[in-house]
Amino acid sequence: MNKAYDRVLETFAKDYRKQHFDAEVAKAVRLANYDLHFGPPCASDCCAPATDEHGNENEWSGFSFEEACIAIKEALEDLPSKLYIDVMCEDYSDSEPQYEDCPVCDKSGMTVNDEGDEIKCDNCNGEGIFEPDYENIYEVERLQLIKAIVGKELSNYV
Ligand SMILES: [Zn+2]
Repeated sequence: MNKAYDRVLETFAKDYRKQHFDAEVAKAVRLANYDLHFGPPCASDCCAPATDEHGNENEWSGFSFEEACIAIKEALEDLPSKLYIDVMCEDYSDSEPQYEDCPVCDKSGMTVNDEGDEIKCDNCNGEGIFEPDYENIYEVERLQLIKAIVGKELSNYV
């Protein structure tokens, strides 16, 4: 894989989080990741009081890893089953790459030159259509998307 691929995947993850994760889910992801890396903070008495000595809400209060995973799973329901990443245009799409019509000859593969003769269309080399740029388009499975969005480790749980 290449850097463009990583960049586009990261952009997709960012866009998805922005559009589908509210503050609660974002927090669930953050705390669940923390939990995975450092162990459950609630195992000790650290989150026993719902507020700290300054009256601020203890963000761990009420946290449960299982519940966090359920909330995250729900927020991931809108993910496409597959994503197509175009590393040439550095763009992504959830629909399969399509053939495109040549706009110059309107799919006929022929155009008329200044002398009025029918000639092969230069734009599409007489094909009339453009094949998708398969060499530069990567298909990304849903699990890879989840890894990009919530982190590799947490993706095993949601
Ligand atoms: Zn053409």
